[in-house]
Amino acid sequence: MKSAEIRQAFLSFFEEHGHTIVPTSSLVPGNDPTLLFTNAGMVPFKDVFLGRDPRPYVRATSAQRCVRAGGKHNDLDNVGYTARHHTFFEMLGNFSFGDYFKRDAIRFAWTFLTETLGLPKDKLWVTVHISDDEAERIWKDEIGIDPERFSKLDEDNFWQMGDTGPCGPSSEIFFDHGPEVWGGPPGSPEEDGDRYIEIWNLVFMQFDRDAEGTLNPLPKPSIDTGMGLERVAAVMQGVHSNYEIDLFQNLLQAAASATGYADTTAPSLRVIADHIRSCAFLIADDVLPSNEGRGYVLRRIIRRAIRHGHKLGATEPFFHKLVDALDTEMGDAYPELRDARDQITRVLLKEEEQFARTLDHGMGLLSAALDNLQGDVLPGETVFKLYDTYGFPYDLTADVCREREVTLDEEGFHRELEAQRERARAASQFGADYSASIELDGETTFTGYDRLEDQSSVT
Ligand code: ATP
Ligand code: MG
Ligand code: MG
Ligand code: MG
Repeated sequence: MKSAEIRQAFLSFFEEHGHTIVPTSSLVPGNDPTLLFTNAGMVPFKDVFLGRDPRPYVRATSAQRCVRAGGKHNDLDNVGYTARHHTFFEMLGNFSFGDYFKRDAIRFAWTFLTETLGLPKDKLWVTVHISDDEAERIWKDEIGIDPERFSKLDEDNFWQMGDTGPCGPSSEIFFDHGPEVWGGPPGSPEEDGDRYIEIWNLVFMQFDRDAEGTLNPLPKPSIDTGMGLERVAAVMQGVHSNYEIDLFQNLLQAAASATGYADTTAPSLRVIADHIRSCAFLIADDVLPSNEGRGYVLRRIIRRAIRHGHKLGATEPFFHKLVDALDTEMGDAYPELRDARDQITRVLLKEEEQFARTLDHGMGLLSAALDNLQGDVLPGETVFKLYDTYGFPYDLTADVCREREVTLDEEGFHRELEAQRERARAASQFGADYSASIELDGETTFTGYDRLEDQSSVT
């Protein structure tokens, strides 16, 4: 089954069960300063759950574009290292706003997986929250799940959108990719492996967490579910990694020809194929590379992609060349992407040209520092210099270090950052104002508060 067919089968299934199909929303959450990007299918419905946004339906379904880079659900550092994480992915979801609750949510999910998609029951593993006896009863007594493949867990089964907002206990469904893949079942010490991959999360929305951390009951218990399209596509297409599914083949080919590196299974090519999706869609949703907030997260993703191209030997700007392949792959489903194609290409090319000027030098400095390193911690001053002088975001340096099994002195880095801010403040008392920006090589490298916060949220 192709990805597009799975998407359609999902929406049709839930439409047949009384759900209204709601079009996908922007990656920039409307009117929600608490959230960096739309990181789940429920985000556009946040106020509906809270009872503040009445809709003409109580059941909805959607295929929502999501970005998980920065903020609460940050998967940037996972990309290139796991088979299942992207910065950009599509989340298929069904929602009940005070209508059905646990029983129907579980039944719908089980029916869709085992009947519509025809997945073998003995490959599916299920978890619920440690306190959730009701969901346990439904799974065991009504669905008849084998207790061998069922467990009750704690933090992993409490879902929240962000530090505040709708949340509740959840039930996760995993697919077992078989003993050839390393990893253990949910709750086991090896659960971080990629053998048992979580495909669907059913959240029993019951609370609104406020800024003090208090859980206030929602007006009505509701349902929010999310299934990663790419992960289900991997299952349906009989491949283990998300990067082996149909959606990624042309992108990987395009990345291979743009960088001149032929092996499409190389982790760096996968990183590039992943990152073009988040970067292009963010730009289509009007985010532009900058030094703060959302724009800085975008810049970090772009620079991470460029660095991986550099690692593969690309000497010319290559990243912007992938926009056409992405358009071919996803432009039908996302007309907003197609419309913004030229703009995306321009923005990426400009960013590539700007960063190219310092990338070589920065990489030279970093490689030398790593070659000469005593021990296995890169000093904070070096990380800061790369950041300040060469425009290397913290997580880019971290990515390079991880390849060499070196950790970063994060505290030292933040100390340097703070010291620089102090100097800027002191200098501004004497008339020169450095607080807005420091121009370097035509490029702004000022480290502002927003940037500092971003930085700490990704470490
Ligand atoms: P994991 O534990 O594998 O990181 P998660 O529990 O963080 O996943 P949820 O927040 O429950 O994920 O999101 C709902 C579903 O969205 C997941 O079950 C998965 O299918 C999909 N998903 C989550 N994060 C990603 C990602 N970074 N890339 C692709 N799909 C994802
Ligand atoms: Mg996760
Ligand atoms: Mg999980
Ligand atoms: Mg989950």
